[in-house]
Amino acid sequence: MTAPQIVTRFAPSPTGFLHIGGARTALFNWLYAKKHGGKMLLRIEDTDRERSTKEAIDAILDGLKWLELGWDGDVIYQFSRAARHREVAEQLLADGKAYRCYATAEELAAMREKARAEGRTRLYDGMWRDRDPATAPSDVKPTIRLRAPQTGETVIEDQVQGRVVWQNENLDDLVLLRGDGTPTYMLAVVVDDHDMGVTHVIRGDDHLINAARQKQIYDAMGWTLPSMSHIPLIHGPDGSKLSKRHGALGVDAYRAMGYLPAALRNYLVRLGWSHGDQEIFSTEEMIAAFDLSGVGRAAARFDFAKLENLNGHYIRHADDQSLVRMFEDVLDYVPGRSELKAKLNDTTRAQLLKAMPSLKERAKTLIELIDGAYFIFADRPLELDAKAAALLTGENRKLIGQLHSALEKVEGWSSATTEAALRIFAEENSLKLGAVAQPLRAALTGRTTSPGIFEVLDVLGREESLGRLKDQSTT
Ligand code: GLU
Repeated sequence: MTAPQIVTRFAPSPTGFLHIGGARTALFNWLYAKKHGGKMLLRIEDTDRERSTKEAIDAILDGLKWLELGWDGDVIYQFSRAARHREVAEQLLADGKAYRCYATAEELAAMREKARAEGRTRLYDGMWRDRDPATAPSDVKPTIRLRAPQTGETVIEDQVQGRVVWQNENLDDLVLLRGDGTPTYMLAVVVDDHDMGVTHVIRGDDHLINAARQKQIYDAMGWTLPSMSHIPLIHGPDGSKLSKRHGALGVDAYRAMGYLPAALRNYLVRLGWSHGDQEIFSTEEMIAAFDLSGVGRAAARFDFAKLENLNGHYIRHADDQSLVRMFEDVLDYVPGRSELKAKLNDTTRAQLLKAMPSLKERAKTLIELIDGAYFIFADRPLELDAKAAALLTGENRKLIGQLHSALEKVEGWSSATTEAALRIFAEENSLKLGAVAQPLRAALTGRTTSPGIFEVLDVLGREESLGRLKDQSTT
């Protein structure tokens, strides 16, 4: 007999963007499925109608696509399955595994109050568990509650947390179906995971307590509990709850900050999972190496500097053509870049491609890459920054005029031919190359830092270079 196929799922609630913790959960599920030749399904848990939004759903789907974490099959919307959830609740009722509870809101509040005062975690006292429904008040719409075991233990053998045990006396009879007939989250998750054939649940450890409640539903239905893995949440660098400043942002924010999907995946996989001391993983390596046994129990700490360094690594190693594409893509996500976007055409794309080998050496993010490439897109006459303006003294503007004449004679414009011409010029005028290069850079780029000056000349081309020099020169 062959082993059953591994099925994982990512089950976000669309009440906000795809945050970084959710992205890591998706990645772990994706890796586990890929490693075992299985499937990762996507279920949008949109049962909270008030808080679920179309924008959030779009942001989740976009975020997953951008991270290249594709799911198998169609997206499953939990709300659309409400009838099936009800059916299971009714079946449990028919089997005597659940019962109708007619407790009023006031009675429930009083029960909770009492339980708290007595320091009990079991909030519902089971008042309708064994009561004859014939005595039910006619004006209360009943909920359906699970007839949960009152003695013994509920145990989860968690792949990450180990064996976790709850005393059943501390767990109350949970609501499966509300008075208005809507299923509770707890019921919906179990029915969906079962019907979707999920074999492995991998999610944040904020759901660990839910696992106990869900196990009771599995037991009542006689269904097999999937393998459970509750992964520690991501904390801030100081160990506190992850704040916005410390990275609790949507995946779209990381995209807009110029991170590459491959770099973010690599960073995320190491948040809570390790494989020896390896830090850099190609996607294939990640899939091959990933295992739940490598997931630690301690909360992972988010570290922006590390993410940035990793991103720099991925940028340096990315192929130039794909960086041009990413450069272009990210402009849609960064506010105020529409002007730059409008300047992209075959010429500027070719210039970018030419400059890429040196641009990518200096950039840790695509934003830095964009910034480094500013000189390609600058309009004549160039706006000079303060340092460049200070450098272009009257004397140096004369020098620029002379350089213009010298470069004008260059045949076959390239970094090599312009370099040769500038070296001869410097020699003939007893100047150091640096004394020539700095004013030249200021005139060509409007700044005092840029890629190598011969490369700048080459990328800008003859006409644009000479034009820019003319703009800044005096005779
Ligand atoms: N919808 C839940 C959440 O977004 C996840 C539920 C689950 O993974 O079981 O936190």
